[in-house]
Amino acid sequence: MAGEPQADCLFCKITAGEVPATVVRETATTIAFRDINPQAPTHVLVIPKAHYPDAGSLAAADPQLISDVLRETAEVAAEDKVVATGYRVVFNTGAGAGQTVFHVHAHVLGGRGLNWPPG
Ligand code: 5GP
Repeated sequence: MAGEPQADCLFCKITAGEVPATVVRETATTIAFRDINPQAPTHVLVIPKAHYPDAGSLAAADPQLISDVLRETAEVAAEDKVVATGYRVVFNTGAGAGQTVFHVHAHVLGGRGLNWPPG
């Protein structure tokens, strides 16, 4: 069923506390934790606790929940003090765009110059 935990999902395991992560923020519906392979001084992943594979399916199923995720990206940026210098929020969607974990997550990247277009 949509939103239910998936046994083979890494980020569901992080949500359940079965896989450790450096959690920076948690709300009733979301968790934010540092990426294990950071691509910038600030590289935090914000996920909904409920399992949806990507941003599009989450937005279609639960607009409030993707709004919760986006609000948390702004909170993370404020706490890491990257708002003034700029930061990027990215949802890689699909393997062709670099998505490797199919539990929707927003990357929050900041603390260094960020080129456009991204690679
Ligand atoms: P994607 O490529 O799906 O957009 O992003 C997945 C992200 O998850 C990658 O940036 C990767 O470094 C991160 N990641 C993969 N495994 C783990 C893990 O076990 N813990 C944490 N904190 N991040 C992970």
